[in-house]
Amino acid sequence: MARSDSIRSYKQHKLDPNESFDAIVIGSGMGGLTCAALLARDGERVLVLEKHYTAGGFTHVFKRSGYEWDVGIHYIGGVNHPRALLYTLFHYLSRGELEWADMGEIYDRVWFGDEHFDFRKGAENFKAGLKERFPEPEDQQAIDRYVELVKQANEASRTFFAEKAVPRAVSWVAGGRMRKKYLDFAGRTTREVLEELTRNEKLIGVLTAQYGDYGLPPGRSSFAMHALVSNHYLHGGAFPVGGSSRIAETVAETIGAAGGLVLTNAPVESLILERNAAVGVRMADGRELRAPNIISSAGVVNTYRKLVPEEAGRSLGLPQQLDAVQPSVAHMGLYLGFKESTADLGLNKTNYWIYPDGSYDHDKNVEAFVADVNADFPVVYVSFPSAKDPKWEERYPGRATVDIITLAPYEWFDRWKDSRWKKRGDDYEAFKEQISQRLLEVLYRYEPQLRGKVDHYELSTPLSTRDFVSYELGEIYGLSHDPARFEQRFLRPRTPIKNLYLTGQDIVTCGVGGALLGGMVTVSAMKGRDYISKARAAALQEIEAHSS
Ligand SMILES: Cc1cc2nc3c(=O)[nH]c(=O)nc-3n(C[C@H](O)[C@H](O)[C@H](O)COP(=O)(O)OP(=O)(O)OC[C@H]3O[C@@H](n4cnc5c(N)ncnc54)[C@H](O)[C@@H]3O)c2cc1C
Repeated sequence: MARSDSIRSYKQHKLDPNESFDAIVIGSGMGGLTCAALLARDGERVLVLEKHYTAGGFTHVFKRSGYEWDVGIHYIGGVNHPRALLYTLFHYLSRGELEWADMGEIYDRVWFGDEHFDFRKGAENFKAGLKERFPEPEDQQAIDRYVELVKQANEASRTFFAEKAVPRAVSWVAGGRMRKKYLDFAGRTTREVLEELTRNEKLIGVLTAQYGDYGLPPGRSSFAMHALVSNHYLHGGAFPVGGSSRIAETVAETIGAAGGLVLTNAPVESLILERNAAVGVRMADGRELRAPNIISSAGVVNTYRKLVPEEAGRSLGLPQQLDAVQPSVAHMGLYLGFKESTADLGLNKTNYWIYPDGSYDHDKNVEAFVADVNADFPVVYVSFPSAKDPKWEERYPGRATVDIITLAPYEWFDRWKDSRWKKRGDDYEAFKEQISQRLLEVLYRYEPQLRGKVDHYELSTPLSTRDFVSYELGEIYGLSHDPARFEQRFLRPRTPIKNLYLTGQDIVTCGVGGALLGGMVTVSAMKGRDYISKARAAALQEIEAHSS
């Protein structure tokens, strides 16, 4: 599988000063790539500028010691069927080059000590699986009602997110109506909604066990976000064939086919504004690049605090808007490599969500851990990427990888904030080592055959996230998905600065699918046309033509 010729290094690729682009996209995450590819499929030349040495934002992979790890993809929902919405959108963006590997019947396994619960593919199987474990009639009713509410919330999300793309005048007249139904779900916490369905704490603990997918425990998360994630995976999980880097590689080819480029090692220092219009970007090396439209997928906080010149931002009240939103959580990730094949190690595709023994109150568990690092991990998520990618064995014969994730407040790392990668000091390394060993012990409890077989391990911290993907507080999901976030009308593609658009996870929601839809909404707002329908219709035609 070749890397894309359309991804080059800014340092090595000599950009012709006379070269012109129709748009510049800041950041090569899923949101930015989506915008660039949509415009490219309309024949526009787009330049994507990425700060990191590799493309893809959180969809990037990194390689070390003969292994490769995915950073921000462990599974994606809604791509298990050629007619599924996300499947068609990915098809359109990659011109059919991106392939998906289904994760099988059980995508998530939830552990509370030795007891486990399986999340099965398909709404009916999901319900039936849980009902076997919760046989009381009132619990069974609650499970049915829960799935019903999840579906209703998702239904209501359509006009809510569509409203972000409509012209200002339409929003002014119809915006309130388009947003209202979803806000009824979004304005309440997940716990509030679930407590209306059941008093069974164990059932609530199980139903909200995927909270790590958006970072906030049920007492703090918006039910709208919970419902999006729950519904997203209801028809199963899938993984990109060939690993996460295939997303950026295949989408970059689409961008390149129209004469565009993705440049890595290309940090944008600031936006260039003239008469309150964005006309270009100033690179960290001082070079100026101009285009009629500028799209930022660097996150709304980075865009408004760092990229918009300070005085212009202040006069438009942009930093004040940010006071209404919070950063999402930070994390620690343990990346493991084994010199044995996935099959020999007996690893499966199902993700594990591991919780403290018999403790179903996620909010209390998080609070206890934030107060005391020696408390039980509130959640340990274990993913087996080498088992999920059918091409892994071909790419890395006789090797396997495992990723482990837990939450970590950024504040714990604040004292090392001025240090550089790999030079943060012995105390930092000692702290990491202690956490790594504790996480390994959790893994060995559930996969004891792995003990003594780890060939490589390294722990990332919120400082790694800050330095590699440019989120100042190591946040992994952009803005926090609490009820207040969904109230904010400024989280939309159009900004008060002409020709400057926002995209990515802050515009719709976190998740690769959320960031992709963010890109769809942004281009729809720019062009005054529904790009989701356009891309889906074109993809369905292409899929049909290919299969006949
Ligand atoms: C550990 C982890 C696990 C996850 N697991 C999953 C999962 O299993 N499934 C799922 O669907 N989602 C998952 N996610 C979430 C998902 O990866 C993200 O929500 C999504 O990829 C965000 O896309 P984005 O385009 O909005 O932003 P990003 O991917 O963050 O892209 C923004 C890009 O902008 C660049 N940038 C910032 N400032 C500048 C600048 N000044 N100049 C140039 N470039 C700049 C950054 O370097 C970055 O590459 C996970 C995330 C993490 C961190």
